This record gives sequence, C-alpha cells and structure tokens, in this order.
Amino acid sequence: MSEGIRRVALVAHDNKKLDLIDWVTRNRDLLAACELLTTGTTGKLVTERTGLDVERLQSGPLGGDQQIGARISQGQVDLLIFFWDPLEPMSHDPDIKALLRIATLWNIPIACNESSADFIVSSPCFQQYQRREPDFSAYRNRAVVSPSA
Ligand code: PGA
Repeated sequence: MSEGIRRVALVAHDNKKLDLIDWVTRNRDLLAACELLTTGTTGKLVTERTGLDVERLQSGPLGGDQQIGARISQGQVDLLIFFWDPLEPMSHDPDIKALLRIATLWNIPIACNESSADFIVSSPCFQQYQRREPDFSAYRNRAVVSPSA
C-alpha cells in the first residue's frame, strides 16, 4: 500500500519562523491536504499567516518537541519539517536532539532547511511512498543482564 505523506509536523525556531512561514505559504495547497502538527508558537504563526488548520502542541521549550517525538514513536507522523537554528544556543537543546534522534530512528523523512523541504515536497514519493518501518525486534528481544547476587 502506498499512501504518501499525510501527516506533517512543522517546527521552527524563532529566527527561522519567517522562513518556515514562507515555505508553508509556497506549499499551501499541498499542505492543506495534510494533517499538520506543530509546536505552539510555530502553529500559532502558521495559522495566523496562512489560514491553515493545525494541531498545536506545547511550545518547543515547554515540551512540544518531546510531544512530536512521542507522536513519531506512535506512528502518527509521516514527515518532519524542522527549521532549527544552527546559530543560537537553545535552552531545550536536549529536546531538539531527542526529536531529531527519534525521527531518524523511526525512518521519518526530515527536512531541516528550506532546500531539503523543497526536495521532499517535489518528490514523487510525497504522493506515493511506503516508508519501511524499522524492525526493532532484535533490540526488543535482546539479552539483558540481570542483576546477580
Ligand atoms: P515554538 O517551539 O514553535 O513553540 O516556538 C519551537 C521550538 O523551539 O522547538
């Protein structure tokens, strides 16, 4: 079964929010057909500036990045657009790293800048793609050393 991209998570750091709004505006029709999941302030801006409906989670530094990571691990996100800021230190740096880690782990396509996002939305895979879900059975069934006396 090939479903393509239906559920898109959008996150942008403050210095990147206008870049994301521009990108969303350019791709408005495509994104209007998707379910959009966002961190708090990003989602507020996306809705105000583009009129698109989004599901807004917490602001990133208040747990929003972790909420998106949880949705990914629950199989509820097909694409992560994450315009993070490489020039500013962030209070929630561990959460940012965790979100990128969990998206990578679950084989979710990730775009961290505009050109990568352009490549993804212009790919035929956007409309038709069966993402391979990683098989974690070996990890889940790994031998764990039990405490011995
Ligand atoms: P924000 O969060 O959309 O609430 O600003 C983004 C982030 O910093 O992860």
